[in-house]
Amino acid sequence: MPELSDVEGFRRYLARYAMGRRIERVEVRDRAMIRNTSPSGFGRRVQGRRFADPSRHGKWLLAPVGEQTVLMHFGMTGLLRWTAGTGEPHVHDRVIFHCSGGALSYRNMRRFGGIWIAGDDAEIEQATGRLGPDAFDVGRGELEELLGGRAGVKAALMNQRRLAGLGNLLSDEILWRARIHPRTSLARLRRRDWNRLHAEMQAVLRESIRHARVPPKKAWLTGVRDDRAAKCPRCGSSLRRATVAGRTACWCPRCQRGRR
Ligand SMILES: [Zn+2]
Repeated sequence: MPELSDVEGFRRYLARYAMGRRIERVEVRDRAMIRNTSPSGFGRRVQGRRFADPSRHGKWLLAPVGEQTVLMHFGMTGLLRWTAGTGEPHVHDRVIFHCSGGALSYRNMRRFGGIWIAGDDAEIEQATGRLGPDAFDVGRGELEELLGGRAGVKAALMNQRRLAGLGNLLSDEILWRARIHPRTSLARLRRRDWNRLHAEMQAVLRESIRHARVPPKKAWLTGVRDDRAAKCPRCGSSLRRATVAGRTACWCPRCQRGRR
């Protein structure tokens, strides 16, 4: 499922292949994926304009096109593909931006997420809902302010209104590295826990952004969590799994002791 690091990869991809190119035609193959206007209305607002330098906020990709911004969310299975020249579209290509010199496809098998168009900041917020700052830009003091309260730490990390960009894999990886149980109440975190949480969040994000995904290294929780009889890469204990904040969390019962 695309999280901050994957969407950063899509941002770089769009910049590399489509930036500066003129959109000649938008082919909407699945009209439900254009979320806040009609396919023809969408086309009218972007056709003839060029993709400018894209940005990212949490799991959202923002691609300015003339005075408009195309917002993309990748849901569970979304991605971007550039095709030079002509070719048969992939069965899951939902929207195709035909440009000078090639085509940018928004591919999405399971159809969560979608594409929005916005003319100003208010329309951007209408599409995204209120978002906290991007997790990669957040300082140590700000993190504690944003997440403060009594919620469980994993739930708070994944709450996009507080902090934008973290999903199931990133939050589990960060908590495993910081040795904090995913259900720990924020109210129970001490100063040294917050210090570790922030430092590990930045370290995990830096490395994941470099790889455009949470890298499944064997020394990382992410690299072993889907193994049969998965073991903690640090201490060798059997990993635990349970639903936390609506997602299947994975943690080490020895390294991440429960403290509610
Ligand atoms: Zn362990």
